[in-house]
Amino acid sequence: MKMRAAVLEEFGQPLVVQDLDIADPRPGEVLVKVKACGVCHTDLYTASGADPSGYAPCVLGHEGAGVVEAIGTGVTSVAPGDHVITLFSPECGECIHCKSGKTNICLAIREQQGKGFLPDGTPRLSRDGEPIRHFMGTSTFAEYTVMPEIALAKVDPSARFDAICMLACGATTGIAAAIWKAEVEAGSTVAVFGAGMVGLGAVLGARLRKAGRIVCVDKSADRLELARQAGATDVIQVQDNDPVQEILDMTDGFGADYTFEATGIVSVMGQAVEAARMGWGLCTLLGVAGKGQKLEIVPRLLITGRKVQGGSFGGARGRTHVPQLVDMYVRGELPLDPFVSHHLKLEDVNRGFELMEEQDGIRSVIVFD
Ligand SMILES: [Zn+2]
Ligand SMILES: [Zn+2]
Repeated sequence: MKMRAAVLEEFGQPLVVQDLDIADPRPGEVLVKVKACGVCHTDLYTASGADPSGYAPCVLGHEGAGVVEAIGTGVTSVAPGDHVITLFSPECGECIHCKSGKTNICLAIREQQGKGFLPDGTPRLSRDGEPIRHFMGTSTFAEYTVMPEIALAKVDPSARFDAICMLACGATTGIAAAIWKAEVEAGSTVAVFGAGMVGLGAVLGARLRKAGRIVCVDKSADRLELARQAGATDVIQVQDNDPVQEILDMTDGFGADYTFEATGIVSVMGQAVEAARMGWGLCTLLGVAGKGQKLEIVPRLLITGRKVQGGSFGGARGRTHVPQLVDMYVRGELPLDPFVSHHLKLEDVNRGFELMEEQDGIRSVIVFD
């Protein structure tokens, strides 16, 4: 079948929207008609060539939501017409990691996914017979995608695609980290560094857990206003001030019970560790640092009881947790709509990257007919 897709032809160059062929789903695979897809920083990172594991040509996009169009043999958990969210982090339920209940890092398809292939080691995308590789196992900057059944979360069909697509990556990373990874306690004090999609998600998650005080730190007054709307009780705009000192001052010199880092900047990660409370403060790192960068921590901070953890996708197990988050959105508990700053057509995907570089808004979402 022919479809429109945005292809990364060459690093550092704009994506090229064009016709590609997409093959039918094989056993265990599902053909999804993409309805909405967020433009995430990871897409830009790969398109720029900065990601050492990147490859081209490929179809980017990983924040997708859509409708099941067809299923391959053996697929039982989704059927045509079901609404789904694409998962770059699958949940097979059978590997040693999934069975452990201790991690969301499923081992089932990692190797082939990292190379740009479906689990059988081949792509479903091509152009005039030339294979085109997938990206993050999702490739949702396209009208259709073929994905393994284990990488699709079936969700409530009443939810808006342009909002819930953000739960495929950024929003869930922050929300899940607060709810399930850190398990923020009611009445506690939380500090969130960064008010982008992930940080705002952490604010939402902390509010859902009934944190008593939620402090959000960012450079942008506009983003901090969104953080307030999401539930931040205090905001710190970073200029020449020291946000760690301000958080200590707010907490009788002790620091926050929970801190979240959502910038990917190593120096900010250090601040998130220092702002965690002596005795039991738990710092959760969510941002992705540049290749080779290192985080230095004074051991005394750990000896005196602070803990540091991290979580890809906020530790969310996609097929288990993402449908629960969609239900919360439908019930009005997760106000995601304000985070959609721009609606774009697939043809304007490069505009989405420009808006991100200009730091204009939180999320651009590509919508399909
Ligand atoms: Zn992402
Ligand atoms: Zn697994």
